[in-house]
Amino acid sequence: MIVIDGSTGEGGGQILRTALSLSLVTGQPFRIEKIRARRAKPGLMRQHLTAVEAASKISSARVDGGRLGSTELTFDPADVASGEYEFSIGTAGSTTLVFQTVLPALLRAQGESRLVLKGGTHNPLAPPFDFLEKTFAPLLARMGASVELELVRPGFYPAGGGELRARIAPPRTWQSLSHLERGEITHRRARALVAALPEHVGRRELAVVREKLGWPEEATRLERIPASTGPGNVLLVEVGTEASCEVFAGFGEKGVTAESIAEETVRDVRDYLASPVPVGEYLADQLLVPLAIGAGGEFRTLPLSRHARTNIEVLGLFGFKVSVEEGGGSAVVRLNA
Ligand code: AMP
Repeated sequence: MIVIDGSTGEGGGQILRTALSLSLVTGQPFRIEKIRARRAKPGLMRQHLTAVEAASKISSARVDGGRLGSTELTFDPADVASGEYEFSIGTAGSTTLVFQTVLPALLRAQGESRLVLKGGTHNPLAPPFDFLEKTFAPLLARMGASVELELVRPGFYPAGGGELRARIAPPRTWQSLSHLERGEITHRRARALVAALPEHVGRRELAVVREKLGWPEEATRLERIPASTGPGNVLLVEVGTEASCEVFAGFGEKGVTAESIAEETVRDVRDYLASPVPVGEYLADQLLVPLAIGAGGEFRTLPLSRHARTNIEVLGLFGFKVSVEEGGGSAVVRLNA
């Protein structure tokens, strides 16, 4: 049995989610201890528990310790079954993270799956829906997988109530991914989503984007979301290149000005533009598992985050080798099938 210390490395929910994904794909059971031990509220929170329940449901797993607040969990999957599933997080917990937990196994299953996920779709500290759709899914397509995503309704923290749907078709044959260059910039777009908040919040964010990045008026757009899903605000800045697309997000927060949220997002965009890499910080940690379960491949990214390093360690525990070459302000990551 693989035993994981959940407090090492990044020490958050990701160690658990990556272990669930890899356990489902490899069939290896695992036990994780000290789950989120150094976080303010240790143990499993609602969103982690939904990831465990979702993983368990698609694989008829035996689970011990799957309770709110639990700091230990044993997970032993049986066979993964494709099909139609609905998972409701019940709070504004991130639907996108639950989606990424079960996706690898469903990409390796026999047949298509359809998922309905209810909860938050634009949460701080998680990929926003638009990142999944524009940044993550197109790279899966290059690996041979077809993942269609639909945002039925956005859900913001703390109200939740969002809905994401996905159709997942496993590849006929997995393709190895080589993603080392990004090529020329092909488009730039910034959208400010505003739900049940004054429109000037979004307008001020877009004004910062125009001023600091020098983007024209027509590259920015305010989108009013039905008030019933609010309050909520997110700034989404998209940079498309010949090879891919990166989505940068800033999440509106009580007590933080629209200007400072936009300035932080602009900083992330500038860091990305200042370096020639095709893969941004967040995509780097999220690409590792799909590459490991597919035909492998390589990508160039910024210096690795703790999330990425932690994922590499968990991959190692499940028998996947990742090589990293760092230097000159970038890193090249390679995985062999
Ligand atoms: P954890 O902190 O362990 O819950 O993991 C958070 C996950 O969300 C990681 O895979 C991050 O790459 C991802 N993430 C966090 N913020 C963003 C963002 N703004 N855009 C895309 N992905 C994000």
